[in-house]
Amino acid sequence: MSRIVVLGGGESGVGSAVLAKVKGFDVFLSDSGKIAPKYEEELRKWDIPFESGGHTESRILNASEIIKSPGIPSNAPLVRKAVEGGIHIISEIEFAGRYDKAKKICITGSNGKTTTTSLIYYLLQQAGLNVGLGGNIGKSYAYQVATEHFDTYVLELSSFQLDNMYDFKADIAIITNITPDHLDRYDYNMENYVKAKFRITQNMDKDDCFIFCSDDEITIKHLDKIIIKAKELPFSQTKPVNQGAYLDVDKIIVKVPQKEDCNIFLKELALGGRHNVYNSMAAAIAAKVMDISNEDIRKALGSFQNIEHRMEKVLTIRDVLYINDSKATNVDSAWYALECQTRPVVWIVGGKDKGNDYTPLVPLARDKVKAIVCLGVDNRKIHESFSGVVDTIVDTDSAEDAVRTSASLASAGDVVLLSPCCASFDLFKSYEDRGKQFKDAVRKL
Ligand code: ADP
Repeated sequence: MSRIVVLGGGESGVGSAVLAKVKGFDVFLSDSGKIAPKYEEELRKWDIPFESGGHTESRILNASEIIKSPGIPSNAPLVRKAVEGGIHIISEIEFAGRYDKAKKICITGSNGKTTTTSLIYYLLQQAGLNVGLGGNIGKSYAYQVATEHFDTYVLELSSFQLDNMYDFKADIAIITNITPDHLDRYDYNMENYVKAKFRITQNMDKDDCFIFCSDDEITIKHLDKIIIKAKELPFSQTKPVNQGAYLDVDKIIVKVPQKEDCNIFLKELALGGRHNVYNSMAAAIAAKVMDISNEDIRKALGSFQNIEHRMEKVLTIRDVLYINDSKATNVDSAWYALECQTRPVVWIVGGKDKGNDYTPLVPLARDKVKAIVCLGVDNRKIHESFSGVVDTIVDTDSAEDAVRTSASLASAGDVVLLSPCCASFDLFKSYEDRGKQFKDAVRKL
């Protein structure tokens, strides 16, 4: 019996282990840290041997294949050793894709992945399709392949998941945009990061569709260098396209070959902001390719409820609006958050910097930001980037402190915007934890 070892005991790893078990492999799961009780319980339920708090090499390096969770870097010593020993390393998605005959709509990009994935899932569900949701979001894809049946999957794929994908093929692939993020995991080499994103198009043929933003320079430059067999369906807010989607003054026009055009007025969209016009365009093209009716597309894009921690309006207190955009963990997402503000902003920013260059934010900060409240352990780079641009820059080290300080700096008519530009791990467990603590602190004001 061939042996599969799973590294990492979170949602993705445990799901992979369950699928491997169901498919009759000899499975072992190993996590160098603690495994959450609910996952330990799941592993016991399926009778899957596992270890936590360290890796026993002798039980790992005898694998015929290793499924690596996306959180484990490919230069981790154990992973290197496995590769040197000739063991094939794959991702959960690669593994589960082998056993899944469903149509797969896959979304990657630097920003907007979760929003676009959720939009498409909602759209297809509302139209009555038997559709599953997975990847970087919700329940593990592998777990669902093991235990459920769907005709279509909408999968959010981070570049870490794409790194270890080889034979997997998407029927519809979307790259929302590409801006520098996670460069620390790509040897600070943008080219490596771009290539990782484009792996989403690998193995596609002429019957498949590739949806991308033709306003995105990095995407377009890379497309010029490679050959993609899939049908290209770009979206743009700056110029009309023959196929795909574009903006015509106040409406989106979606054009897909052999299908009736679909027009959607911007004022009909449930999600505001320029970035969400892009996300809605990508979703509408995918839906059109999936043969969803124009009426269903318009209805769904008009009734979608935004997901937590993304430009989420929390409360208005003394005429100051508090917005939770904790998920803005890089410069580009914070750019969009600032760009769509029409009122003076007290901006809460900072956290674990992933090699950020704040320069693109300077003009927006000059125009819109009246005060910066740093929320991070090391705020030096923020001070360096914005002193002389924004008059008031103060340091805080907890969500509560940041909210109270912001409240004291804001006047009636202002916005307090948590759009941190950085990861959360210096002071918080996750971006969700940061957003929740922010909201709790706002409610306590
Ligand atoms: P991801 O899953 O790629 O991290 P999300 O949909 O969770 O993306 O959004 C993350 C952050 O990026 C949020 O702050 C959101 O407001 C912003 N955002 C969403 N869509 C886009 C886009 N198309 N371009 C730039 N920023 C975006």
